[in-house]
Order: sequence, then C-alpha cells, then structure tokens
Amino acid sequence: MQRQLVDYALARRSTLARLRAGSTALEGVCDADTYLLRAAKFHGTGTDRPCPVCRKEQVTLVSWVFGGVGGTPSGTARTENEIVALATSSPEFTVHVVEVCRTCRWNYLVQSYVAGVPRGATKRRRVAK
Ligand SMILES: [Zn+2]
Repeated sequence: MQRQLVDYALARRSTLARLRAGSTALEGVCDADTYLLRAAKFHGTGTDRPCPVCRKEQVTLVSWVFGGVGGTPSGTARTENEIVALATSSPEFTVHVVEVCRTCRWNYLVQSYVAGVPRGATKRRRVAK
C-alpha cells in the first residue's frame, strides 16, 4: 500500500552524529513546537525505541498527510488507522512520518511515502468472501 517509500535513516544518523560531535546545536533539532507535540499526543503511534537524544522516553511517530484528502486541509496529522482507511478510499496523497520525543522535543522526518488509490486506477475488484 505504501509507494515511493523514502527512508531518512541515514540522514537521521548523521544528524545525531553531528549532534554528539557538537557541530549541531541541540536547539536546532529539539525544536518540536506545540502543534507537533499535540499531534504526537493525540494522533501519534508509540514505539519501543528510546529517544536518541535524551533517552528518557520512547519516541512517538506522527504521520502527516499532504494532499488534502478526506475533506481536510493538507498537512494534518492522522492516526495509523485513519491513514489505512484513507489509503483504500482516497486519491493519492503523501505521508510524512515524523519521530517526536515529547520530553526533549527532538523531532525528525524519518520516512515519507505515497499512499491512496493511484490516479487512473480502475475500481477495486470485489473480493469474494
Ligand atoms: Zn528526547
């Protein structure tokens, strides 16, 4: 269901390496705003991965939907279940997955992908039960 998946693990790792080496300021990467923190709280998906910066809590993944699907403006946070539902009923849209730590406000775009029904695709075949 996910297409054009881009994984930013390498960029994330080098950002963290720069942070540890002191060549990137903490304020530059731990700058999640209230909007993002609220999105993490209400729409985020918990993980078992500790925050790479403060290690005080597990990071939350927030999925941002771009493309204005489902009658909502572009750039809104959606839960995983909402995205699964949109993917089968909406035209193509882009999802940005952001990792957020609600303790130190670390945030990083970890993945992006395209979901939804491709333009020009025929209607889904009925699945016999
Ligand atoms: Zn943290």
